[in-house]
Amino acid sequence: MISRRALLKRLSALSVFGLFGSGLAVQSCENAKGREEANDLAEELGIRTFINAAGTYTSMTGCLMPEEVMQAINASSNDYMMLDEAQGRVGERIAEMCHAEAAMVSAGCWSAMVLGTAGVIAGRDSEKASQLPHLEGTDLKSKVIVQKSHNTGYVHAVTNTGVDIVPVESRQELEEAINDDTAMMWFLNKAAPDGQIPHEEWVEVGKQYQIPTMIDIAADVPPVENLWKFNDMGFDLVCISGGKALRGPQSAGILMGRKDLVAAARFNSPPRGGNIGRGMKVNKEEVLGMYAAVKRYVNMDHEKQWKTWEDHIALIEQRAKEVNGVRTEVTVPPIANHTPSLAISWDQNKINITQEELRENLRQGDPSIEMRGSGENTIHLTVFMLQPGEEKIVARRIREELAKA
Ligand SMILES: *Cc1c(COP(=O)(O)O)cnc(C)c1O
Repeated sequence: MISRRALLKRLSALSVFGLFGSGLAVQSCENAKGREEANDLAEELGIRTFINAAGTYTSMTGCLMPEEVMQAINASSNDYMMLDEAQGRVGERIAEMCHAEAAMVSAGCWSAMVLGTAGVIAGRDSEKASQLPHLEGTDLKSKVIVQKSHNTGYVHAVTNTGVDIVPVESRQELEEAINDDTAMMWFLNKAAPDGQIPHEEWVEVGKQYQIPTMIDIAADVPPVENLWKFNDMGFDLVCISGGKALRGPQSAGILMGRKDLVAAARFNSPPRGGNIGRGMKVNKEEVLGMYAAVKRYVNMDHEKQWKTWEDHIALIEQRAKEVNGVRTEVTVPPIANHTPSLAISWDQNKINITQEELRENLRQGDPSIEMRGSGENTIHLTVFMLQPGEEKIVARRIREELAKA
């Protein structure tokens, strides 16, 4: 079997001899060539590259940045600019697209939450900013209220600033927990169905007691409307990952919301030092890359993209089902990573392989493929991180391995 790398080499050799007539074909070879060079570097270093049918996992380097984003990154790498000016202009444009008063590019959703909280606590006061995360013995507010079911690992971003979490369940508990030491009320969007207090009520109580509210929507586009839904709803700060379905830089994210609070978050971050955010630097390439990613995402044809995902899932499903003993199920997670995903299970009396073994065979194959697994005999895959054409490879390889077992 010809490897993907060898195929790309042949294709670009052909383009050198002018065998491709159309400009489009030549251009796609240029892209392929860029990829090939990157692959050569990975090869030189002995790093395995793979087709990502798993999803946007930080451990798997998240997502691949599209051409528009890479162009923004490459173009901005040729000039100096003032970091604050880049953040300011990009922030204005992102805010406009997302119905927010203001926005900034952070080093991921996690960093957006640290900086947003720091801004709420310290404001634009360098004396106060320098005290974080040591709040004890200061007059800085040090409590953040969170619903118990939202109180998961992600809340550590907030507690990085030195605050303590006050867990609550009911609205009554929430109102009783609010006092002079309450800095903020934090909400985890994907946990909304598990908590008693819905979004609107959370925002309403925050406004009533003048406590800023923050929401984590890290992995929660699609749908694209989520970029503005929570700003429209009245959350004071909204935090999202740049390097998940938005396909911006993996180490970027967005903090958006109230103008004074975004300004305060920026005050607690580079280029200023002596603050908790100094280590969460975002370079100008990522700031502009994030802008390009949001612009692309807001303007793309989401219906068409969804249809393509469904087609790709259907293709893989159909090929897998050709093997006797295979069952499939298509589901769409309701909130985070809301894209069609496919579970493939098999009768181990007919197909004698565990999901770990199957995934290992796919990982060792050429090209290597990654996906998730559960139990003894189920693999889970998504198609939203595939590059065009890879769905065929995934479909063929899964069928091959199942048929062989
Ligand atoms: C991914 C994720 C984060 C962290 O986002 P980064 O952009 O990787 O910093 C935070 N919260 C939730 C719910 C996430 O899924």
